[in-house]
Amino acid sequence: MRLRVWTAAAAAAAVALGAGQAGAAAPSRDAGLGPDRLLPAIRQAVSPDRLRETLTRLVGFGTRHTLSDTTSETRGIGAARRWTAARFADVSKACGGSLAVETPQARFTGERLPPDGALIQDVLAVQRGTSDPDRVIVLSAHIDSRVSDVMNAAADAPGADDDGSGVAAVLEAARVLCGRRFAATIVYAVLSGEEQGLFGGRLLAETAKARGWRVEAVLNNDIVGNVQSQAGVIERGYVRVFSEGTKAVETPTEANRRRYNGGEVDSPSRNLARYIAALADRYGAGFRARLIYRTDRFGRGGDQTPMLEAGFPGVRLTEAGENYDRQHQDLRTEHGRAYGDVLSGVDFAYLAQVTRLNAMTAAALAAAPPPPAQVKIEGQVSSDTTVSWTPSPGAASYRVYWRDTTEPFWSHSRDAGAATALRLPGVVIDDWFFGVAAVSADGFESPVEFPGPAGAFFASPPPAAPAAR
Ligand SMILES: [Zn+2]
Repeated sequence: MRLRVWTAAAAAAAVALGAGQAGAAAPSRDAGLGPDRLLPAIRQAVSPDRLRETLTRLVGFGTRHTLSDTTSETRGIGAARRWTAARFADVSKACGGSLAVETPQARFTGERLPPDGALIQDVLAVQRGTSDPDRVIVLSAHIDSRVSDVMNAAADAPGADDDGSGVAAVLEAARVLCGRRFAATIVYAVLSGEEQGLFGGRLLAETAKARGWRVEAVLNNDIVGNVQSQAGVIERGYVRVFSEGTKAVETPTEANRRRYNGGEVDSPSRNLARYIAALADRYGAGFRARLIYRTDRFGRGGDQTPMLEAGFPGVRLTEAGENYDRQHQDLRTEHGRAYGDVLSGVDFAYLAQVTRLNAMTAAALAAAPPPPAQVKIEGQVSSDTTVSWTPSPGAASYRVYWRDTTEPFWSHSRDAGAATALRLPGVVIDDWFFGVAAVSADGFESPVEFPGPAGAFFASPPPAAPAAR
């Protein structure tokens, strides 16, 4: 059943991703390539050796605990952040200066911080979009590390997998993508303070709101480089993608409407997760996204959470099987068993696969138009359903999706051309869930947006779309 649905969803995505190419005007954006050429090129550009080099440097700072030394040039989170900023600057230089490196900071207080609080600093590299720069795709990870005692800022805390792996992935994605031009902005975000209470994620959310970013997607990479689970099982074939089912910011009125009409598995975060899965299926060269219909691991959290609470869609990516002996542990050996988050616990071929999926997803989202807004369905007491939406800036066409209400993935789709409504004859509104995606002239498709507030990617309508090209 799962395979059938997966295949059907992938087939639908395959058709749609190529939909804009035939008869389209000469592509003028990005690298001038459609998804079938651009995304494999991005996949091939990711280097396991570069990831190893980056992670070796990060581990070399001894500890990156949020409260560790910030003045040393060789040890502690300050040195690690400065190195990261310098690395972004180097990457940018090789790409003609396409990245703006920024280090927003703010003082936070909390249970896992000193009584007078702590200054939290993030390192961001911003690749400004060409035609839709306020729309933002975020690739994030946290640079801070910890050992058994969350307040121990002195002990060695290599944080190779948690979350040096994620930081290496974000830096490598920046290197691979910075030479390309995209409609939307991509923000590469290296966050601090995660282990002390998700403070870097909060700072990112506040920064995004202050700057008026319309965040369409957050891909938060946390623990993405280990292939052997606590139980000893080796799994290299997929990464887990966690997504919330209903919006953290849903109002009681919206919740009532959603509970009655459906939408409990169609938040924008969930449809972003489905997008990643379909993309992996088509372009991942055998590497899959396993969707988990939860906001995070059971009872645990990550930096996507403050972004969700700010109303921004996002997912968490985590390796297939975690090894708890390597997370949040003092470096030690007990009864012949080694504990600690050391470099040897990271598999760079696997980390490269996760990085490829990140880079391809960010490129596809940033090259595509935003999802259509104000999606509506009509057709009560009728044998047909009409789906309508408002135009997306930069869209050449739209694709309407539907699926059985119990299906996990979109299974049916139809091209709507440039119209902003589509009637589906013989499709009864009661029996299906619906959504719509926007497609650029060169064939890049947005995630599917489910109707109403339950599925809306953006809290407010987008600026008026320019006249069709
Ligand atoms: Zn982590």
